[in-house]
Amino acid sequence: MSFHVRRKDREITSIEEMRQVLKTTKYVTVASCMGNEPYLVSLSHGYDETKNCLYFHCAPEGKKLVYWKANDKVWGQAVVDFGVTEECDYAYTSVHFSGRMRLVDDLGEKQHAIAVLVRQVSLNPEEKLAKIKLEKLEKTTIGRIDIEYLSGKKHQSPRMSA
Ligand SMILES: Cc1cc2nc3c(=O)[nH]c(=O)nc-3n(C[C@H](O)[C@H](O)[C@H](O)COP(=O)(O)OP(=O)(O)OC[C@H]3O[C@@H](n4cnc5c(N)ncnc54)[C@H](O)[C@@H]3O)c2cc1C
Repeated sequence: MSFHVRRKDREITSIEEMRQVLKTTKYVTVASCMGNEPYLVSLSHGYDETKNCLYFHCAPEGKKLVYWKANDKVWGQAVVDFGVTEECDYAYTSVHFSGRMRLVDDLGEKQHAIAVLVRQVSLNPEEKLAKIKLEKLEKTTIGRIDIEYLSGKKHQSPRMSA
């Protein structure tokens, strides 16, 4: 079955605009499914535009990892929240994505991933990156979502966007 954003007036059609949302937000919420049971977590992320993937780090165990090992297909959302408008609408820009969840083993890719992540979520990234020790990074669990699908929607009142 195939679905599309029904409100064409609110649909974002520019891939660049969707990528910009992934590049400027601090976290994504990622849904997964094991058997007939849904689950979701929020993850602070860094978006790699070249590889079209999201990087994050997490604990080496827990419910989400059990789900991702059972089923690597995920669906997620990033939101730019503008709040309530004067017309009492809710203004937002959001992007949905689906893709495959992978854990990163290669130390070189882990270094790249942490640089992408810290540069996106931190105010003084280079200072923070300089403090990261390779031995610690080697033991850190880093994940990657390879994006296969993107859709975008925005709802902003003309008054807010003027
Ligand atoms: C804005 C934001 C950014 C985050 N960034 C990261 C990140 O980068 N990396 C990361 O690993 N985690 C991050 N978290 C926390 C993440 O969403 C999960 O809570 C955490 O990863 C634990 O997930 P788990 O499946 O291992 O839970 P477990 O510790 O295995 O717990 C399983 C059970 O605990 C409950 N639970 C788990 N998490 C939550 C929660 N957040 N709120 C309420 N109940 C919960 C659920 O009922 C679930 O069934 C972030 C959370 C927020 C809100």
